[in-house]
Amino acid sequence: MELYQTVLEHLEKLLEKHPERKEYAYDPSKKWPETEKFELVMGRDTAYELGGSNLGAANYTCVTTDPEAFTGSKTVVIGKDLKETGMDVPYARLVILSVDPEMLGDLENKKASERAFRTLQKLDFIKYHVFAKGYMVRTSSENFKEQVRVSKKALAEGISFEKVGNCFLDRYLKVDGVKAAKVIFITDPSEDYKALQEDAKKVHEITMTLSRILEGMPTDCSMCSLKPVCDEVEGMRELHFGKERTKA
Ligand code: SF4
Repeated sequence: MELYQTVLEHLEKLLEKHPERKEYAYDPSKKWPETEKFELVMGRDTAYELGGSNLGAANYTCVTTDPEAFTGSKTVVIGKDLKETGMDVPYARLVILSVDPEMLGDLENKKASERAFRTLQKLDFIKYHVFAKGYMVRTSSENFKEQVRVSKKALAEGISFEKVGNCFLDRYLKVDGVKAAKVIFITDPSEDYKALQEDAKKVHEITMTLSRILEGMPTDCSMCSLKPVCDEVEGMRELHFGKERTKA
């Protein structure tokens, strides 16, 4: 059961559409310096914002257990890199993690499903613990956006998506069961950020459906608010009804 299949297919198409994209293999020696805690970048010290000024923005983290999906961790950049933008631009940061199927376990087993949900949350929450210097991330879980203030100092010192990507990759790859990770930065103004935001919403809904099924809920699909998610994600119904059977 590939939980985020539709989103992964959209992403694959997006990547195919951009053969000019830049790809950088994970290299911990090229990490941008990090601070221990959230670092405030004041307005007067800001060179520009990514995803600010009502420009498009989106952010999600999802997983795949397909061993064929990808190997080799990397940062991908679609659009201008940090030193080239020079002004506020739209922005998306998308993360795909290739995980050991054991990490999610047999989703029809209650204990394994609970563990899977906690794992997915933990992986998503990593974004709150990466503090690249002079790269202030503000995340909104309500509208699935991420905005970034880039400091003038960081730009002068040579910050780039490759270096920031290595900070994120480093964190993800330290989690047991994560075999490879892909961090995709998008600043191309021609991209459809509303569609990316919709995908981010979908990722959230799928994970939350997993949680609500685990909490136990009625089994009448026609009355259920989660029906759109279960109609789309193969195996979600089996997961719920399998769970009801194993409750006794
Ligand atoms: S299978 Fe999905 S739609 Fe049906 S009751 Fe369970 S959560 Fe709701």
